[in-house]
Amino acid sequence: MIKCLNCDDSISKPFFPYKTFFNKKKFRYYFCKKCCLVSIYPTVSADDIKLMYSRNKYHKEWYTVNKDNPQNYNDSKKYLSKFLTKKKTILDFGCGTASLLNLISNEHERWGVDLDEELIKENRQKNKSIFFYNVNDFENFSLYNHFDIIILTDVLEHVVSPKKFLEKMKKYLKKSGKIFVEGPLEINFSIVNFVSIFYFRFFKKNFNEFIPYHQFFSNHKSQKKMFLSSSFRIIDFKTYDNGWPYLNSKNLLKKVIGLISIITGKTLISCFNYGNRFRSIITKK
Ligand SMILES: [Zn+2]
Repeated sequence: MIKCLNCDDSISKPFFPYKTFFNKKKFRYYFCKKCCLVSIYPTVSADDIKLMYSRNKYHKEWYTVNKDNPQNYNDSKKYLSKFLTKKKTILDFGCGTASLLNLISNEHERWGVDLDEELIKENRQKNKSIFFYNVNDFENFSLYNHFDIIILTDVLEHVVSPKKFLEKMKKYLKKSGKIFVEGPLEINFSIVNFVSIFYFRFFKKNFNEFIPYHQFFSNHKSQKKMFLSSSFRIIDFKTYDNGWPYLNSKNLLKKVIGLISIITGKTLISCFNYGNRFRSIITKK
């Protein structure tokens, strides 16, 4: 039985992009009518994950792209800063190159955790005032009820069991602690989402040979449902649009589509939950 990653209900409605082939396996996508989440089936294995996040495949490709777009993290920092009034203990789980952690003042106790051991070593060299660990070493510390703030930027959609993962994060959080989550809304109302799905569907010949990084696709409704069904309370939830994947394109038409999408987001956000991304603050119920 194929289950919705949110509701645990049986799901059978195929959803675009329908399927992809990766690591000699076929992965399919199914839509949940109850919560609007699209879940992958089967979920990726430890072996797939190893291949997916090898340095050449993932970090070189994505983190260099992100470097061109530092504005992204400045906005995240601005959003987060109203919760950083006193000295806080902060954990960035899935910190990558620590772009966001580096922007946060060193008066706070900062921890960065990632899967990639090489990246952790590089991060340690660059910033000695942050505690950097790989996931296994970090988990051995059992730092339960230790953190005021946990940062999850572009992490949740990569996790095989997002609800179990959120439950685990809850243990590391202090009673009144907060989790800052930021990520994509791949099937939310947004011009770039609409155009890229259309383009991918009709013009990309190899559209079912992409790497299944995201274990689910969400809109604002299904993303909120994920937090609520993992027993969190939503303090704030904002959608926005960053024009991805078109804003940084060299093609003028794509760039214009990206810009129009951002501008539409800035004018429509409050009425329609418009946008291809979200930022949210959640806390224990
Ligand atoms: Zn569901």
